[in-house]
Amino acid sequence: MKKRQVVIVGAGVGGSTAAYHMAKAGLDVLMVEKDQFPRDKVCGDGQVQSIHPLLKSMGVFDEISKYGYQCPGTYFSDDREEHFTYNYPEGAFAFATPRYIFDDIINKAALKTGVDYIENFEATEVMLRRGQAQGIRGIYNGKAVEIEADLVVLANGSHSMLSRQMGFFEEDPDYVFYGLRGYYENIRGLTDVIEFHYPHEMFMPAGYIWLFPEGKTRANVGVFITEASLQKTGMTSEELLWWWRDNTKLGKERMGEAVEIGKLKGWRLPSGKHQKIYANGVIAVGDAANMIEPLYGGGLPHAMIAGVNAAKIAAEAIAANDFTDSFLQKYSEYIDNDLGSGYKIQEYLRTAVFGNLKDIRELIDYSKEKFTGMRLSGGDAMGKFVIEKRGFKGVTKSAYSK
Ligand SMILES: Cc1cc2nc3c(=O)[nH]c(=O)nc-3n(C[C@H](O)[C@H](O)[C@H](O)COP(=O)(O)OP(=O)(O)OC[C@H]3O[C@@H](n4cnc5c(N)ncnc54)[C@H](O)[C@@H]3O)c2cc1C
Repeated sequence: MKKRQVVIVGAGVGGSTAAYHMAKAGLDVLMVEKDQFPRDKVCGDGQVQSIHPLLKSMGVFDEISKYGYQCPGTYFSDDREEHFTYNYPEGAFAFATPRYIFDDIINKAALKTGVDYIENFEATEVMLRRGQAQGIRGIYNGKAVEIEADLVVLANGSHSMLSRQMGFFEEDPDYVFYGLRGYYENIRGLTDVIEFHYPHEMFMPAGYIWLFPEGKTRANVGVFITEASLQKTGMTSEELLWWWRDNTKLGKERMGEAVEIGKLKGWRLPSGKHQKIYANGVIAVGDAANMIEPLYGGGLPHAMIAGVNAAKIAAEAIAANDFTDSFLQKYSEYIDNDLGSGYKIQEYLRTAVFGNLKDIRELIDYSKEKFTGMRLSGGDAMGKFVIEKRGFKGVTKSAYSK
C-alpha cells in the first residue's frame, strides 16, 4: 500500500471528525475501521448543546436534527426525591440521537470529502523504528498488512491496545466509569428533558441514573458509576438500576411498567485525560486518549474537538516536516487550551457539588429558590450555585465552550 501523510485508526466520531478536517485541509489521509458502518456504540445518546457548532462546521447539523430528539432542559433528583428542571433559554436544546445514526452521519460526512477509507481493517500495532512511528500494522481480509504514514492518529476508542503500546493508557478507579444502557418503552412520568437521578450515597461521587428521552414514553436509560464506587456497592450496574426501580418512588414510576426494547449493554470508560496523548509520530483523540469528562461521562464533544485539533497539528507537522514528540507536544497544548478549563471545573464540581448527597440536596433546594420560572442552562445554574454557595472564584464555562 502506498505511503500516506496520515493514517487514522478508528472511524468513530473522533476519527471521522479528524478525517473530515484533514481532507478539507488537503492532506493525504487514509482512515481504517475494524467494523462496518452503520455500527452501534454503547452510549447514553446525549449530545449536549455545545456540540452544535461542531456539527455545523461539518455540515451535518440539519441532518442530525431530523433524527435527534430535542431535549430543552435538564432535570436533577436527589435521595429525598426532590427534583428541579433547568429549562434552557428559548430555542436551546440538547439532542438524543441513537449512535447507530449519529456516528454514521459523521462518518459519511468524512467520506464525502473523498478521504480514503478501509473497513474491516483491524489495526494491531504502531510500527516503530528507533522510537519513531512509521505507520501501522493490521489484519485485513485475514492477511497481515502494513500501512506506512508520517503521522498515526489513534481514534479507536477506550482501551485501545495501540494507545497502551504508546504508553497513553492510565487508570485510576476513581476516574474509570462503568456505564450501562438499555432502551425502554412505556416509561411513566417522562417529559422531553434529560433526567439525572442521584438516589443514594452509594453512587457518589459523580454517579447517577440517566434517562435520555427518545420519544414521549421511550428513553435511553442507564447507570454511570465510578469503578471505585461500584466495587463498594457489591452490586453490578444492572442491579443498581433495578435497585432504583424497586426502592424509590421515582424509579418505580419511571421503570415499574417499562418494557425493554434494546438490550442492556455496558462499557468501561477511563475519564479525565490525565496522561500523555502524543509521542514520536503518534497522537490520540477521543476515548483512545481517555478524554471523557470526569463528571457526567460525556465524550462526544471532546472527541470532535480533538479531531479538529488533530487536523490542525497534522497540517502543521506536514508543513514543518517534523513529526517528533517535541513538535507534537503542541497538540496537547491545543487540547488543554480547548478542554483544560472544562476538566478543571468538572474536577471541582465532583467534590464541591457531586461528591455527596448533602451537596446535591443543597443544589436542588437552592435551584428551587433561585431559578423557579427562569430559563437557563444547567451549566449557568451550576455556575451561579458554586459562586454564591461555595465562594467559587474561577470561570464556570463548560468543557467545550470558549
Ligand atoms: C454507557 C455510555 C454512555 C455514554 N453516554 C454518552 C453521552 O450521552 N454523551 C456523550 O457525549 N458521550 C457519552 N459517552 C461517551 C462516548 O460514547 C465516547 O466519548 C465517544 O464514543 C468517543 O468517540 P471516539 O471516536 O473517541 O471512540 P468510539 O466511538 O469508541 O469509536 C472508535 C472506533 O474505532 C474502531 N476501532 C476500535 N479498535 C480498532 C482497531 N484496532 N482498528 C480499527 N478500528 C478500530 C471502533 O470500531 C470504533 O468505530 C458514553 C459512553 C458510554 C460507554
